[in-house]
Amino acid sequence: MDNNSIIEWAEELQRRFPYRPRKGATKPETKSSPTLVQMGKSFTKAMTKWAASGFEVVDEAEYIRRRQICNACHGGWRCPKCGCMLWAKAALATEKCEKWE
Ligand code: SF4
Repeated sequence: MDNNSIIEWAEELQRRFPYRPRKGATKPETKSSPTLVQMGKSFTKAMTKWAASGFEVVDEAEYIRRRQICNACHGGWRCPKCGCMLWAKAALATEKCEKWE
């Protein structure tokens, strides 16, 4: 899968499963949110791992399962732990979260 296909695939999933804030969800900008430096480190680490995997992405069913778990967990568009954009994080096969297990 080339980069343009991945972006088109992610955009299609984003259209089909748009972000809907969960009632009572915490906002991403809280005191415990990662700093810009921490987010930069997380992003670099995630992209390095993803590139090493050959840009492996999950299938649609796994993507939807992950997004549903993230919506129940947080409801925002960024992960409160690493600050990654959830529409992208959920798509990368190399990304992990204990709640996805
Ligand atoms: S990746 Fe994990 S911690 Fe982050 S929002 Fe999703 S379920 Fe929650």
